Amino acid sequence: MTSVLSRTPRQAASDTLPVLIEGGGTAGITAGLDLAAAGRRVHLIERSNHLGGQVLNLDKIYPTDHCAFCPLWTDIRRLQIDSRVTVHLSSHIESLEATGEGSLATIRTEPPLIAPERCIGCGACFDACAPGAVKPLGEHVYPPSFRIDRDLCNRCGSCVGVCPSAAIDLARDEERETLKVGQVIRAAGFIEADLKPLPEFGYGLHPDIMTSLEFEAWTAEAGPNNGRIVRKSGGGRPATIAFVQCSGARDDRLLPWCSAVCCMHALKQSSWVKRRDPGIDCCIFYTDLRTVGRDYYAYSRRAEDRAGVRLVRGRPGLIHPLPGGGIAVKFEDTLTQKREIRRFDMVVLNGNLRPSVGDRYGSGAEPPAEACGFAAEPADVAQSAWQGSAAAMMAISRDKEGPCRA
Ligand SMILES: Cc1cc2nc3c(=O)[nH]c(=O)nc-3n(C[C@H](O)[C@H](O)[C@H](O)COP(=O)(O)OP(=O)(O)OC[C@H]3O[C@@H](n4cnc5c(N)ncnc54)[C@H](O)[C@@H]3O)c2cc1C
Repeated sequence: MTSVLSRTPRQAASDTLPVLIEGGGTAGITAGLDLAAAGRRVHLIERSNHLGGQVLNLDKIYPTDHCAFCPLWTDIRRLQIDSRVTVHLSSHIESLEATGEGSLATIRTEPPLIAPERCIGCGACFDACAPGAVKPLGEHVYPPSFRIDRDLCNRCGSCVGVCPSAAIDLARDEERETLKVGQVIRAAGFIEADLKPLPEFGYGLHPDIMTSLEFEAWTAEAGPNNGRIVRKSGGGRPATIAFVQCSGARDDRLLPWCSAVCCMHALKQSSWVKRRDPGIDCCIFYTDLRTVGRDYYAYSRRAEDRAGVRLVRGRPGLIHPLPGGGIAVKFEDTLTQKREIRRFDMVVLNGNLRPSVGDRYGSGAEPPAEACGFAAEPADVAQSAWQGSAAAMMAISRDKEGPCRA
């Protein structure tokens, strides 16, 4: 450990330099709040045009089953009004280079050409855009919103003409600024890995075979169906839903790790289906149920014993749409050792979650960084928040003791 008296000029200078955080989800927000509470200045860089990360795409959160957004909203507001924190939305770190004193970070900001606060999601710009530059913000975003891909846009202005709320300004240019920063925290969270390279899951072959994030958005109370459980194909009520664990995870062909949050969120999603429509048969196909600890284990017991979710130990080998409607799931129940094919109306694929690497700065002179939340390893909301706090403490102690390069 380096004593305070023996600090190098770089270490001493970084005492006063702001901390750079990449990613404004649970982990990045918590790290930012804790650093600000400790009197540190923070630059938080968020790629999208809002804070909150993937939690904004969730309906309820386990283990409390409370609204996902409400507690986060308080933290977002605290961060936004803290004078020590500067939030850079629609931004990413273009380069980061260690210098003698701290690091120089170039931040590139691309203000959205469609102002989110004015957009009413009518889709008129989407319909009017000949080169296809207007794109939905994402499958999970509700109410729908749109963005303009700067590279595809030919600036013809037809979208501007049809926008009823004057939300579009094609002249908004990207901006760059260089910041002098000290410690760096990476909190870029996770993304879904594409399941199409694993054809046995049938992803993309039927609208009712969806990923867990798609299902979460589809069935959310604030979502397109107001919480009703309906099929995407035709909108009718499903009689049966299969939740397939470890889809793409613990699989050397795609993601050689356990995605950690999926057993719990499959139990959550299936329990909520049963609460809203007890007649729907929900079946979770699991490899081994990873619900560790007191509350999580109790949650899994409640799902099975009270909500009536069925658990089958076995990883399906084939999921395929049936010609007459419905989806076939072929599996071996490894407890009874029976092989079966069952028909389901909907299939939810759980497990294809990949820690986001964030930006690669590509420079040999890049400073060391502390990773937290899903960017560090698969982690749920509570774990991401703890890790955000831990990363903040690490940043402070590194400033005091000098960067740890071990
Ligand atoms: C279907 C599903 C249901 C879930 N349900 C629950 C639940 O009920 N309870 C629970 O505890 N957990 C749940 N989780 C897990 C939860 O979503 C994560 O734990 C949480 O989102 C992790 O927070 P994070 O801050 O690490 O990452 P994220 O939420 O992914 O946030 C990362 C942020 O970084 C930004 N970013 C990405 N790349 C860059 C970049 N290069 N530059 C700048 N910014 C960048 C992103 O835009 C995002 O805002 C669920 C996950 C899934 C998939």
